[in-house]
Amino acid sequence: MTSYKCGKCGRTVDIDPEKMGIKCPICGGKIFYKERGTVAKKIKAR
Ligand SMILES: [Zn+2]
Repeated sequence: MTSYKCGKCGRTVDIDPEKMGIKCPICGGKIFYKERGTVAKKIKAR
């Protein structure tokens, strides 16, 4: 599952595009932004 941010209501929703298509379960909006998870940055210690 991927977290998307709805472009209409602004809420972050977990949707499965393959199963239910791109549609906000809250407002029914169809515009989504892909939410970037926390990217762990590896810092090399030397
Ligand atoms: Zn929405």
